[in-house]
Amino acid sequence: MKILVINAGSSSLKYQLIDMDTEAVLAKGLCERIGIDGHLKHTPQVEGKTVFDEDVAMPTHAEAIAAVIEKLTSPEHGVVSSMKEIDAVGHRVVHGGESFASSVRITDAVIKAVEDCIPLAPLHNPANLTGIAACRKVMGDVPMVAVFDTAFHQTMPGKAYMYAIPYEYYEKDKVRRYGFHGTSHRYVSQRAAAMMGKPIEELKLISCHMGNGSSIAAILHGKCVDTSMGFTPLVGLPMGTRCGDLDSGVLQFLMNKYGYSIDEMLNILNKKSGVLGVSGVSSDFRDLDEAAEKGNARARLALDMFYYWVAKVVGSYAAAMNGVDGIIFTAGIGENSASTRAAIVEYLGYLGCQLDAEANKGRGKEAFICTESSKVAMMVIPTNEELVIARDTKEIVSGK
Ligand code: ADP
Repeated sequence: MKILVINAGSSSLKYQLIDMDTEAVLAKGLCERIGIDGHLKHTPQVEGKTVFDEDVAMPTHAEAIAAVIEKLTSPEHGVVSSMKEIDAVGHRVVHGGESFASSVRITDAVIKAVEDCIPLAPLHNPANLTGIAACRKVMGDVPMVAVFDTAFHQTMPGKAYMYAIPYEYYEKDKVRRYGFHGTSHRYVSQRAAAMMGKPIEELKLISCHMGNGSSIAAILHGKCVDTSMGFTPLVGLPMGTRCGDLDSGVLQFLMNKYGYSIDEMLNILNKKSGVLGVSGVSSDFRDLDEAAEKGNARARLALDMFYYWVAKVVGSYAAAMNGVDGIIFTAGIGENSASTRAAIVEYLGYLGCQLDAEANKGRGKEAFICTESSKVAMMVIPTNEELVIARDTKEIVSGK
């Protein structure tokens, strides 16, 4: 069975074609500038097939999908002989609200429910829906599945997901913590249990997804019980450009003082804050490491704030679960930055965490980074959201 995984943004579309017999990626690529002009980079992972990296007109997502199918089936760049070889499509959908606690086959009713979640994710869900509609248009009745970023977090108890504001805003408006990166947290927690050789139902895990956007999840016996992102992905840790937790009184103060509209204020909090805002240097941890090394005090401060916040949230989740058996580091920073992992673990001695400095030097590969005597297992686990989407899609369309 071959499955096409689609992650549609407002002007971009990422894809992978995965052979589910071997779980090998046959081809992957990225359409950019959809609705503007259009560019496709298609990278086959099969010998003898060449990369395509050129402008292609993409007035809408439908032309983007058509270009992807054309490249996937072309003699020069293709990896399948015709569209008929693509058995199903798995779509990443950001927000499933309270309607979806797991992945589902896409039907008209599902599309309606995802549309109903647009107010909760006004930037992301419309783009995801556009990708679904474009696929339906180009690929006809190939079965399609939606995999939600929020679904894994639906097991959180009320005490973790409720905000202490008048209850009617939850009842009427669904204002609550949802959490994001759920596909990643689910994947790495399952891999962690496999690495530890224990059933996930017996483990208390904390997974730290640290990339451009960062979130942490407390996973008790395989179920998410708390996560650091909230109603939106703006909160929790300070991120590349997002502010993380912030006293909402600051909004009123700055808006009054500078006459910002709420959109201007949120643009500052989403795009100009986080480690970029504090350092004034970059949102990229590689640049911050370099600047801090050269003595840039604000870059140092931004990094220190990030480590401190991760450690604080990990500590609070250890408290929430009355212990922790394993801590996972994943995504761009978690997988690649030994210095970040080391600085975070410095705070965790009280839990019995002991870092193996040599093992921690590794990058981008599954590995334990703790000593034999560490009371808590610590692991680097590269995340693979596309594989989770493909696996869910296979399971749902084959009715297993
Ligand atoms: P996204 O949230 O966009 O998927 P990623 O998970 O790809 O992001 O993470 C991207 C971030 O990972 C970069 O902004 C950078 O800060 C960080 N990163 C990648 N490689 C390294 C590295 N070797 N050292 C430190 N940070 C890194």
